[in-house]
Amino acid sequence: MPRWIVRCPECEKEFTHTPIDKALGITRDVFASPPKPEIPQSGTESTCPDCNKASTLRAFDLRYRAERNREALPHTSSPSLSAWTLVY
Ligand SMILES: [Zn+2]
Repeated sequence: MPRWIVRCPECEKEFTHTPIDKALGITRDVFASPPKPEIPQSGTESTCPDCNKASTLRAFDLRYRAERNREALPHTSSPSLSAWTLVY
């Protein structure tokens, strides 16, 4: 499922903030991302499932992950993507 992810400032692990419903995730452009979830300007509290530390998230902390990330990106052997594969 496509999702909005955030990176925990404590342990650097990425975790899902908001799963995106398939109906919302469908767009004509596969590289386009759906609208971000509403986050107040002052941020929102979120607890990392890995280290259980609560941190304040801002809208710009959110990153979009498409379900078919590996197929969608042309550089499947890039170091960053390899790192991503290791995380999951
Ligand atoms: Zn953490």
